[in-house]
Amino acid sequence: MVLVTGGAGYIGSHTCISLHEAGFDFVIFDNLCNSSQESLARVEKIIGKKIPFYRGDIRNKQDLQNVFDTHKIDSVIHFAGLKAVGESVEQPLHYYDNNVNGTLVLCQVMQEYNCKKIVFSSSATVYGDPHTTPIKEDFPLSATNPYGRTKLFIEEILRDLYICDNEWKIILLRYFNPVGAHKSGLIGEDPNGIPNNLMPFISQTAVQKREFLNIFGDDYDTHDGTGVRDYIHVVDLAQGHVKALHNIDKIQNVLSVNLGTGNGYSVLDMVRAFEKASNKKIPYKIAPRRTGDVAKCFADPSYAFEVLGWRAEKGIDEMCEDSWRWQSQNPNGYSRD
Ligand code: NAD
Ligand code: UDP
Repeated sequence: MVLVTGGAGYIGSHTCISLHEAGFDFVIFDNLCNSSQESLARVEKIIGKKIPFYRGDIRNKQDLQNVFDTHKIDSVIHFAGLKAVGESVEQPLHYYDNNVNGTLVLCQVMQEYNCKKIVFSSSATVYGDPHTTPIKEDFPLSATNPYGRTKLFIEEILRDLYICDNEWKIILLRYFNPVGAHKSGLIGEDPNGIPNNLMPFISQTAVQKREFLNIFGDDYDTHDGTGVRDYIHVVDLAQGHVKALHNIDKIQNVLSVNLGTGNGYSVLDMVRAFEKASNKKIPYKIAPRRTGDVAKCFADPSYAFEVLGWRAEKGIDEMCEDSWRWQSQNPNGYSRD
């Protein structure tokens, strides 16, 4: 049985569908601080099966012990965490407590129950401002904000855990920029308030929830001056977790793996692709650069293929079409108003 922390969230909910399709049994653990039970209901609708769900906090030992007492958990996919960069600057203690302390408590409970396999949601943010692209896993690590530091610290903690007890099997998946949604249009990304990320901002502009998109800078050293990122379809990302579980028993040492496509697209490329997919105009204005943004960030994904046999299959047209289906069918996300 796989324990999926944060399984009600955006990436977690998509991963649960891929786990189901691959024949894994799993249980979801989430405190719903950034998600709703409605996403679980939708996942259940898609897979046609009830999913064991525990509402609890990863910082609470008893909440976790309750799950481990009830189910024989043999591996954990650990998505639970807070992820808003700006908020992490304003509330660093909250971020360190939730993400770092939460992971410590989770690992303590795993150790107590002799469950030593974990797949962790890391991020391309651990490469800081990369000196060159595409980014390989052995590039120097750094962080530019508290959120990024929580990912970096957790990676270090997990490496230390392996050093002291190499029965642990640990895979650090470094995601690039997840976008898109399940084909059904029933689940997708549902940010709280004004989206920080590009894709939800574009799609909310398309349904006229936002008046226009601010493009943060058009004077970067990129093909059209706007920032370049490696957008990856969330269903491809979900599949990466399945591959990680399939391979986890045979890994040596802690495995760090980029999950990206290897393609870099600019903000303007994304706007155009979304306009094509939705047949809507996306009004935009050029705004000043956003503090902390890098010009270019995209993966060298070849190691993921080498060690996990995984590669992304979906391109930006499909990413935009699927984001649009979710957004247009659910203009207010999971809320029913
Ligand atoms: P999300 O907010 O949709 O999902 C995270 C889930 O964790 C939510 O359902 C939330 O309620 C839950 N959670 C948070 N703190 C918890 C706690 N203390 N106890 C129990 N549950 C808790 O985010 P997501 O986009 O699905 O991201 C999943 C993971 O991937 C996060 O760790 C995030 O940092 C990481 N990540 C995300 C991105 C991205 O752009 N979406 C990129 C790189 C890495
Ligand atoms: N971006 C933008 N307007 C927005 C949100 C994002 O121009 O409203 C740009 C941002 O500057 C970056 C790219 O879109 O170049 C991706 O930003 P996002 O926040 O989605 O991801 P991250 O910066 O974390 O890679």
